[in-house]
Amino acid sequence: MKKPNSSIIRLLIFILSLSILTLSSFSVAAATKPQELFGIDVKTDDNVERIAIRLSDYIRPQSTFFKDNLVIDFPNTVIKETLQKDYADSKFIYKIHAWQFKAKPYVARIVIEFKKEVAYDLYSLLGKNEVVVEIGDDVALPLHIAVSNPIRRAKLPGAVPHLESKTIVIDAGHGGIDPGGISCSGMPEKKFTLPVALELEALLKAAGARVIMTRRTDQTTDFRKISDRTNKLKADIFVGIHFNYFEDSSAAGTETFYYNPFSIELAQYVHSALVKKLKRRNRGVRKDVLYTVHHTDMPAILVEVLYITNPEEERLVKSNQYQKMIAKGLYNGLDKYFKSISR
Ligand SMILES: [Zn+2]
Repeated sequence: MKKPNSSIIRLLIFILSLSILTLSSFSVAAATKPQELFGIDVKTDDNVERIAIRLSDYIRPQSTFFKDNLVIDFPNTVIKETLQKDYADSKFIYKIHAWQFKAKPYVARIVIEFKKEVAYDLYSLLGKNEVVVEIGDDVALPLHIAVSNPIRRAKLPGAVPHLESKTIVIDAGHGGIDPGGISCSGMPEKKFTLPVALELEALLKAAGARVIMTRRTDQTTDFRKISDRTNKLKADIFVGIHFNYFEDSSAAGTETFYYNPFSIELAQYVHSALVKKLKRRNRGVRKDVLYTVHHTDMPAILVEVLYITNPEEERLVKSNQYQKMIAKGLYNGLDKYFKSISR
């Protein structure tokens, strides 16, 4: 049990974030009248090149990287004009080719050839019926949510086959104007969740995973901005990192929540790995009835690592060394989970 208000706020924020992630699922439905692809504009600013693809309606494209080209397919789409263009002045783009790839059923295809290794991001602007491809060097991408994209990188020496190329969304609970719970010494939960999330990001990136952070600083998570970008996220899993709090300071231990049946395995793997690592009280894996109505495409869990209202646990989670241990525990669980489903 938690204080109802903050608990509800946290719940809403989490539900909101999950619902946004779910947006990506409803686009498949529109398979009747073909949409139109009107045109493609390329703009450059601040070392980032943006390719805006204008459409008659909201269409979720499918993108793959193939032989160093980014291939984007628009299902049920008619292209107005074939495009074949070189971009001599562009820093990143060598050539863009767009044409009617298939007539029955209609598929419009865009192939972008690059001059060098790039990081890219592909997202939909819902209100504008536009799909945007942002291309830049890894560091230059001014993303609303930070995306690390190792797709174009050479194989990392430490890459783990079953983690490589997996897309993992990490939500460092709360942030900015939302402090989350308050610890027994008065520290906000948001300050505990971030370092653990960043540490987990580092571990996963080293293993070759694509990690999407909902925040990387003490910022209020802006779900409208995330929603603009989240349609393109074909994330494999969502992990929310939280710390628990309760008026009774003796409450302690690790608890993991999941929200839909296909998240159970993920919850169990991560929970047992974390409990094994931290050796605190095992409060179990729990399904929260309030969340179940909000189903997601992808397995999603929320980990309540320990209680920051418990003096002993607060002392532990304040230490940088211990935060690393938590991240390692979470990482071990994710590693086991992806290994189990890769068989
Ligand atoms: Zn929280």
